[in-house]
Amino acid sequence: MTIAIIGAGLSGTLTAIHLLKNAASGTTVYLIEPDRYRMNRGVAYSSQLPFQPLNVPASAMSLFADEPLDFFNWLEKYAHLYQRQISLPVQSTDFIPRTVFGDYLKARLLEAEAGAAKGVSFVRVYEEALSVSRQGRGFAVSCSNQLNLSANKVVLAVGNFPPAPLPIPNQSFYKSPCYVASPWSAKGLRGLQAQEPLLLIGSSLTMVDLVGSLQAQGHKGKVYVVSRHGLLPQPFDVSTRPCPNLAIPAAAYLSALGLLRFVREEIKRAEATGYTWRSVLDALRDDVPVLWQSLPLKEKKIFLRHVRPYWEVHRHRMPAASAALLQELQKNGQLEVIAAAVVDVHEKGNGARVTIRRRHHKATEEIEVGRVINCTGPQCDYTQVIAPLVQQLLADGLAQPDVLYLGLKTTPSGKLVDAAGKSVRGAFTLGPPRKGMLYESTALREIRQQAKALAFRLIREGKATLEIAEKS
Ligand SMILES: Cc1cc2nc3c(=O)[nH]c(=O)nc-3n(C[C@H](O)[C@H](O)[C@H](O)COP(=O)(O)OP(=O)(O)OC[C@H]3O[C@@H](n4cnc5c(N)ncnc54)[C@H](O)[C@@H]3O)c2cc1C
Repeated sequence: MTIAIIGAGLSGTLTAIHLLKNAASGTTVYLIEPDRYRMNRGVAYSSQLPFQPLNVPASAMSLFADEPLDFFNWLEKYAHLYQRQISLPVQSTDFIPRTVFGDYLKARLLEAEAGAAKGVSFVRVYEEALSVSRQGRGFAVSCSNQLNLSANKVVLAVGNFPPAPLPIPNQSFYKSPCYVASPWSAKGLRGLQAQEPLLLIGSSLTMVDLVGSLQAQGHKGKVYVVSRHGLLPQPFDVSTRPCPNLAIPAAAYLSALGLLRFVREEIKRAEATGYTWRSVLDALRDDVPVLWQSLPLKEKKIFLRHVRPYWEVHRHRMPAASAALLQELQKNGQLEVIAAAVVDVHEKGNGARVTIRRRHHKATEEIEVGRVINCTGPQCDYTQVIAPLVQQLLADGLAQPDVLYLGLKTTPSGKLVDAAGKSVRGAFTLGPPRKGMLYESTALREIRQQAKALAFRLIREGKATLEIAEKS
C-alpha cells in the first residue's frame, strides 16, 4: 500500500502523523513538498514575518481532539527555547507565534516516524507534484525533476493559494514591483521605507497580522485598509464558554435568512443567561457542515453575498492584543480602514495611484501609496489557480471545482469528484479545498478531524484491498 500525500502543510503532515502511528507493515507514505522551509509547516506556520501570532490561544491548538492540551503541554516543556518570542511562564490563554506551532507539528511528525511499525516507510519528497493520473487501479504522480511515483492512494493537501487579483481594468499593474501578490511572504515588506504609505486590500486576519508585522519592523507611514464592507475581525475573548443545548430548528436548514434569524434569537437567549454571541457561534461550529450542506444552492448564494462578511468577522476573530494595536493606530491616524471598492490602480513613480469608491458613494477618490498588498484571502476558485497540478487535474477531468467555486467538488468523505460527476476511487482531499462541501474547513479544529478520519479510512481500505488480493 503506497500513499502519496501532496503538500506538507498542516493537512498533509497531520494525515502522515496518523498514518505513521497506525499503519501496518508494508505501507509506504510519500510526503511531497517542494519548499524546504514549508515542509511540515505549510503556508501558515512557516511565516518569516515578525509578529505573526496564532489566531486562537495555545489551549485550542492541539493536533489531537482527544488530547486537547497536547500543544500547551509541548509548549510548557520547550518554552525556554523560545524566550525571545514568548513571555514566560507560558499560559494556555497565550497567542503563540505561528512558527512555534510549526515546530510542534514537525516534532510530532518526527515522533510518529520514530514510533512507526516495522516495515512502514516514510519518504519526504522535496519536489512539486506536477500531475496525477490514473495508472491501473492506482495513480502515477509525476513531480518536478522528472521524478515519477506510483501510489495506490493520493491525498491532495495543497492548502491555501495566494489571493486572486482584483478585477481592475489595468491588469498590467499586477506586474508592477509595487504590487505584493502574496501577503504571507516576507518578501512583500522587504526594503520598505519607514514612512512609506501602504494600501492593504482586504480587512481580514491576514491584514491584521500584516499590520502587526509592520509595527514590529518599525513602520511609521500611513496604512490604508480598503475592503468592501470595511469590517474588522472581532476580538477573541479567552473567557468564552460555548452555549450548551443549542437546539437548531428546521428553518435554519432551509434558508440563509432562517439561519440568520435563529442565530440572532439564540444570541438574545444566550445573553439573558450570561453567555455571549461568541458562545453561540462557538457552539454552532461543529454543526456548520450539516447546516451548509442542507441549504439549497440558491440560499448558499444568498449567504455568500449577504451574510458571509458578517459571519467571517465574527467567526474568525483576532487576538485581543491585535485588536488593541489596531484601535491605537486608528486613533492616532496611522491606520485608516475604508469601506470601499478598488476601482483601478496605476503605477505612479515608484508607487501606485489607487482609485477607490466608498461604499454607498458614487464619486471616486484617489490615494497614493508606495505599495499595494493583496490581503483578500486565499484564491478558492480552482479554475483560476495557476499551479500546474491544479490545471492538469481540471484539464484531465480528474477533479472539478465545486459549484460555488469555493474549492474542489468532493464526496462527503473527501473523495475527489471527476468531471463526469463520479467519485475518484483512491483520490482524496482535505482542508481548504473542501470549503465548498463543508464551508468551515480551513482551521485546525476542522482539519484535525478530517486528517484523522482520512488516515483511518486509507488504512481500512488498504487492509480490505490486501484481503481481496490474498483471497484471489
Ligand atoms: C497566514 C495564515 C494564518 C493562519 N493561522 C491560523 C491559526 O492561527 N489557527 C488556525 O486554526 N488556522 C489558521 N490558518 C488556517 C490554515 O488554513 C490552516 O490552519 C492550515 O494551515 C491549512 O493547512 P494546509 O496544509 O491545508 O495548507 P497550507 O498550509 O497552504 O499547505 C499546503 C502545502 O502544500 C504545498 N503544495 C501545494 N501544491 C503542491 C504541489 N503541487 N506539490 C507539492 N506540494 C504542494 C504548499 O507548498 C504548502 O506547503 C491560517 C491560515 C493562513 C493562510
